[in-house]
Amino acid sequence: MAGSRRAFALFDRDGTLMEDRGFLSDPGGVVLLPRAAEGLRLFRRLGFGLLVVTNQSGIGRGYFTLSDYEKTASRLDLLLKESGVSLDGTLMCPHAPEECCACRKPQTGLVERAAREWGFDPKDCIVVGDKLSDMQLARNLGCRSILVRTGHGRETERRCPRNWDLAAEDVMEAASLVEAEAGKEEGL
Ligand SMILES: [Mg+2]
Ligand SMILES: [Zn+2]
Repeated sequence: MAGSRRAFALFDRDGTLMEDRGFLSDPGGVVLLPRAAEGLRLFRRLGFGLLVVTNQSGIGRGYFTLSDYEKTASRLDLLLKESGVSLDGTLMCPHAPEECCACRKPQTGLVERAAREWGFDPKDCIVVGDKLSDMQLARNLGCRSILVRTGHGRETERRCPRNWDLAAEDVMEAASLVEAEAGKEEGL
C-alpha cells in the first residue's frame, strides 16, 4: 500500500458481494455470495478500509423507493455482521442513467466525495466488481481493478477482455491475490 494513508477497497454490491437479483427491492432477496464475507475479512486483515459503491437506478427509475433500498442495505449489513465483518460505509447513486449525474459508476463523484471526507487517495484504492462500469470506475479513479467472475463477471470477461488488472473467481480469491502481491512486495 502506498504511503501511510489508509487504502480502501471499493466493492460493487450486486453480483459481487450478494446475488444480483436485478432491481432488488425486497430485503428477503438479499443473499450473500459464497466466500464474500470471508474475502471481506481478508481485505480487512490486509489493512484495507471496506466501502461498497453501488448504482441503484431502480430508485431514479421509480421501480422502488429510497426506503426500500435502505432496507436491503440494512439486511446486507446484518448478514455481513453475522459473518464477522462490517463495512466502513456504503456509497450509493440513486439516479437513472438519463439524469446524467456525476455519481453513477463509472463516474467518480461518490468516491471523490468519500475520499475528501475520509482523507484517502482514490489512486490507492482497489475496485472489485463484476461489470465493465466497475472496471471503468477504477480507470477513471486511476486505481487498480479486479474483475470477479460472479454475477455478470463471466459475461464481462467474454465481452470486454483485459479492461482490468486482475481477474478472480470471487471476492475471496481477489483478496488472496492482493495478499500474495503484498507478500511479494515484502520479499517473502
Ligand atoms: Mg454488479
Ligand atoms: Zn448519481
